This record gives sequence, structure tokens and C-alpha cells, in this order.
Amino acid sequence: MTTESMKFSDLNLLEPIQRAVAESGYSEPTPIQKAAIPHLLEGRDLLGCAQTGTGKTAAFALPILNRLVKYNRRLEQRQTRVLVLTPTRELAIQIYDSFKTYGKHLKLRHAVIYGGVGQGTQVKTLAGGVDVLVATPGRLLDLINQKYLSLRTLDVFVLDEADRMLDMGFIHDIRKVIAMLPANRHNLFFSATMPPDIKKLADSMLTNPVQVEVTPVSSTAEMIDQSVMYVDRSKKKDLLRHVLKDKALKRVIVFTRTKRGANQVSEVLEKNGVPSAAIHGNKSQGARQRALEDFRSGRIRVLVATDIAARGIDIDNITHVINFEIPNVSESYVHRIGRTARAGTDGVAISFSDAEERAFIKDIEKLIAKQIPVNREHPYHSDAVENSRPMSKGKAKAAIESQQNRRPGGGGRPGGGNRRRRRPGGGSGRPGGGGQGQSQSQGQGQRPSRPR
Ligand code: AMP
Repeated sequence: MTTESMKFSDLNLLEPIQRAVAESGYSEPTPIQKAAIPHLLEGRDLLGCAQTGTGKTAAFALPILNRLVKYNRRLEQRQTRVLVLTPTRELAIQIYDSFKTYGKHLKLRHAVIYGGVGQGTQVKTLAGGVDVLVATPGRLLDLINQKYLSLRTLDVFVLDEADRMLDMGFIHDIRKVIAMLPANRHNLFFSATMPPDIKKLADSMLTNPVQVEVTPVSSTAEMIDQSVMYVDRSKKKDLLRHVLKDKALKRVIVFTRTKRGANQVSEVLEKNGVPSAAIHGNKSQGARQRALEDFRSGRIRVLVATDIAARGIDIDNITHVINFEIPNVSESYVHRIGRTARAGTDGVAISFSDAEERAFIKDIEKLIAKQIPVNREHPYHSDAVENSRPMSKGKAKAAIESQQNRRPGGGGRPGGGNRRRRRPGGGSGRPGGGGQGQSQSQGQGQRPSRPR
């Protein structure tokens, strides 16, 4: 049989698992599921190069559930049979929910632990032992150090989003966890990108792994209708309001580089009657979950997010991604726009670039191996920006940073600085109140609070 025609029923998964998959509405395995599941059912180690949105959670959760049932054993107190390590709380909760969904006809115990909330309930859940534990690194080590959990009898270890883990400074924590694992175990390693240090970590962890790679960066980008709008930095908020007048933008993620930028954009939108919320590392767990729920349910139309906060959020039917600020790491662009056009649907990605950000656009175009078409059909188009010569990336980053530092009061006040009133064109007729202090880059300085 070709993998093209492979069905879930061809995968040799136990009946209750197949039933749960059918109830989830999946008719056919995704490419990563087709490639990974048969090997994982055989107990092979896996090196998966795949980003969120490819169906990778089910690619590992289904065969793991199968294995747990097939080799069922009594749970031991404060032990887990499977550990999935993932960088953020949101991802941890999503993976935990997926295990519960796919395992709903099985009698298995699942738990999720992450920082930022009290540990009492988590400790109680672990007391009797669990089959599957999904965890962020900090809280996992905390609970292990307090002897609420041991990994002595672990059978399967999944390291998810390894590249993001390293970006977020979790490498030491990961090494500590790996050192605690029994030598004889099954290992799965996932990363969206495979730079040398990630490959080294994978090599140190995996034995004779099957390698599975899906949706190379450029092909993901090809499915999406991309455009760039050249605009002065001071006009970006006006442009955003203008763009959002189009009701075709039903479910929109607006990306900023910084947390402060996210807050500022969200405030401007709220002031203009566009229901929105911001999510980033400084928000409480409750606030983030509320924002996500409101977005999922359609109560808010626009979610404003930083790269890291948005990473891995599992929300379908995002119609548009707007890059309010262009990321200075090109891979982030691909991750961002990959939030739309999931599972083969069409998606639209619009990028607002000022003169400095032309350097980042150029870099992105190199990565995706195509030119992003310019959309000039808006009242804020700037020929000067479009025709400006892109500076080097280093210079662009420095220029953005120094602009930020020059702003009154460090530029941190939403709506502060250069307040001017302008009347936007394009038939709006309404004074914009725009030109507020720009949300500006802190380069890559933003890091979410470390999940503990
Ligand atoms: P993931 O890459 O694991 O975050 O999955 C992305 C999205 O795809 C999730 O919303 C899953 O529910 C969905 N999904 C996973 N497998 C399939 C499938 N075989 N068919 C359709 N949707 C799927």
C-alpha cells in the first residue's frame, strides 16, 4: 500500500483508540502520522522534524496509548510510565487534552503539571501514579526534588519542541531530566528546526532513531496568501484599524515582537471597538486561558500575541495573521504565518514593514525562497519605505533598539510620545487618534516567565 492511500484503520491501532480518532472527526492520517505511527508501534526511537499544526501530537500520542494498553501494568505511587516534556503551559495543556481525547475509551490516568499555579492539586494527582505525565521542565524538576515524583520506572520519554526549549534556556533542565531516566526506555524527539546543537542533543538521547520530516519551511509558506504593506512606523496602528475594517478578517492573530507592543496594540483596538485580547508571558495563567477561550469561541476577533506566547496554541480556522512587527528571526515568520492555513485550508498573512524592517523582510524572503508580493492598495502605503535600501540586519536591530530607547519615559507608556491626530484616508472619515508611541522591538529580549 502507498502511504497516500493509508487510512487510520491500516495503522494497527487498538479498536478503542481508532474509535476515539473517528470521533475526533479525522478521516485520514496526516503525513507525519503516516510516517511515524508504524515505526512507533514497533518501539523504534524517533527523530521528528515537524512543527505544530502537522498533527504531530496524535503522531506520538496514538502509538503511545497503544503501547500503554498493550503492555499494561499496575501504576506505582509517584511514578509515571510516559513523560512528555514541552516548553510552555499552553502546549502542555493541549497535549494533555489530546491524550485524554484519544484515550477516552481507555482506562488510563493522565496528568499535566506546569508552573505559575499552586502545586497542591498536581501533587495529589501524582500520588497514586499516572500513565501519562505532560510537564514543563521547571515544575517537573521542582516536584521531583520534593520527592513527589520519580522517573525511575519510566518507559517512554517525549521531548517536544526541542528547539524552542533551547531558545527558552531549558537546556540544563533537560539534561537534568535525561540524567534521571532509566537507560532502557523508548525516546521520541521533536523539533521544528534541526540546527547543530539540537542534532547533538538528539544524538545523545536517541538509539538508532527513525527520522521523519514533514512540511519543510518553504512549502508551508507556499500555501498561504502572503503580502507585505510598506508603511511608516507611526502609521502602523492606523493601518491595522484600516485593515480590520474588512469583515473577511474573522479570526485574526496580530503578532508583535514584544510584550509591551502586544499590550499597546490590544489597547488601541479595544479603544476602537475591536474586541481583542493580548497574550504573552507576563499575563497570568488565568488571563491567558480566558483570552484563548474568548478567541476560540469567537467572543473576540483579534488575538494579539508575541511569538513565544503564540507558539503551539492550537486554534483552528484562523483566517488571517497580521505581522504588526516583522520578526528579526526569519523562522519565526514561518511559524507565525503557519497559524493560518492549517490542515490544508487557505490562509492569509499580511506583514507591516517599516524602513528598518525591510532588512528582516529580505532575510525572510531568502528563507522562504520567494518574494512576498507588495500590497499598495491602502491609504498608508509609503513609497519612501518601499524604495528605501534595506540595511544590514545588525544595523536594523540597533536602529530599532535605539528608537525605542529614545522614546519619552523609555517609551513604555501606551499611547505615549508623538501624539498627533490624523485623518486617515481610504474614506474612513474618522480621526484616527493614531501616531501613538510605537510599540517597538526589544529585539529578541522577550522571554516568558519561566514555567515553574
Ligand atoms: P498538532 O500538530 O498536533 O498541534 O495538530 C494540529 C491540529 O490538527 C489539531 O487541531 C488536531 O486536532 C488536528 N489533527 C491531528 N490529526 C489530524 C488528522 N488526522 N486529521 C485532521 N485533523 C487532525
